[in-house]
Amino acid sequence: MFENLSERLSGVLDRLTKQGALSEDDVKTALREVRVALLEADVSLPVARDFIKKVQDQATGQAVTKSVTPGQQVVKIVHDALVDTLTGEGDPGALKIDNAPAPILMVGLQGSGKTTTTAKLAKRLKERDGKRVLMASLDVNRPAAMEQLQILGQQVGVDTLPIVKGEDPVTIAKRAKTQASLGGYDVYMLDTAGRLHIDAELIQQAADVRDVANPRETLLVVDGLTGQDAVNVATEFDDKIGVSGVVLTRMDGDGRGGAALSMRAITGKPIRFVGTGEKMDAIETFEPERIAGRILGMGDIVSLVEKAQQTIEAEQAERMMKRFQKGQFNMNDLKMQLEQMQKMGGMEGMMGMMPGMGKMAKQMEGAGIDDKMLAHQIALIQSMTKKERANPKILQASRKKRIAAGAGMEVSELNKLLKMQRQMGDMMKKMGKMGKGGMLKQAMK
Ligand code: GDP
Repeated sequence: MFENLSERLSGVLDRLTKQGALSEDDVKTALREVRVALLEADVSLPVARDFIKKVQDQATGQAVTKSVTPGQQVVKIVHDALVDTLTGEGDPGALKIDNAPAPILMVGLQGSGKTTTTAKLAKRLKERDGKRVLMASLDVNRPAAMEQLQILGQQVGVDTLPIVKGEDPVTIAKRAKTQASLGGYDVYMLDTAGRLHIDAELIQQAADVRDVANPRETLLVVDGLTGQDAVNVATEFDDKIGVSGVVLTRMDGDGRGGAALSMRAITGKPIRFVGTGEKMDAIETFEPERIAGRILGMGDIVSLVEKAQQTIEAEQAERMMKRFQKGQFNMNDLKMQLEQMQKMGGMEGMMGMMPGMGKMAKQMEGAGIDDKMLAHQIALIQSMTKKERANPKILQASRKKRIAAGAGMEVSELNKLLKMQRQMGDMMKKMGKMGKGGMLKQAMK
């Protein structure tokens, strides 16, 4: 069963010898299980296939973090790749509602949860954003649908456009616009008619309304439980009407959320919200991490791997600090610092980031470090042997000449580097000696 993906992976992978890195076979074995999990989560076959291929390339050769199993590591990689695929551009929760009154067009099949979602979003806009919202039902074929919106409006305290019998959808849309302007509303939401299936009339109606309303957002509501069907519906609506985002409903049920992945992979449309129940506040901004966790059903493993990685980093930092306190600061340490500085955007970036470190940065500048020098310094260190990096004191004239030549630089530059390594070592030692209440802690406050 799906729930046991974690066990299945561990079972398969823990028998493999740990080699420190994921081999192609490890990854293949693990991904076979992941593929089944994706299909069980209702991800469509071609999407699952493409996804697995992408992850396979990414994962092969990756180092396995100490204290987690290869299986757990693969899960983390798969999780991150899922999040990556699910993430659209921009903030999914931010609706374009400037230039009042802003029209929002709601489209979708009957029974998808469109009317419910319209009311949920209206409530959200009112309560979170303090917007004045007007809702109008355009479902002229089903009077019950119009009344439903009216009732929901009363429930959530949002106005609805009065129902006038015999009007066509375009006329209602125009009336909504007029009323929204005159009434000082910020947003008006048009709940279009739904059908059980997409047909020409439905599409034509939605297109006509779109043309008179010029919506700022066109949100397609689809039932998240319908998997591949939801994706087909989205593709068609987007082709014919153009949608700015998707709302997946019924994400509270048994569905594994696989529709979300197929939706993103096939339509490329951003998922904006998910419906998580029948109540009026059961709507959430789409969060890729949540859905990824749900598809894999193993959020605990993901956080375990993250924690293990963090712990290891913290341990490394602590070991380093201890060595520095004893005055052990070698070329490997210096190289790491230099690389760190490069990552942080050079000297300037670092000074901005670390209060109290300005003095150190100045000293380093004095010792000949500036941004364009970083790469040269690193090259010099790379030109040293392992033994020389660990203990730069052994560098005599002949070694210096060899190193400088290897990096294509002068011995004088190497001497500057050595001086800097000594100075930084001294400084690290002093800072360490100040202990817990010392300079580093002060600086961090
Ligand atoms: P419409 O025909 O698309 O307007 O669909 P409705 O808004 O009338 O919703 C159909 C049914 O689905 C109603 O009973 C809703 O309460 C229910 N529904 C809508 N969204 C959700 C959801 O996110 N979760 C659950 N469990 N039910 C929902």
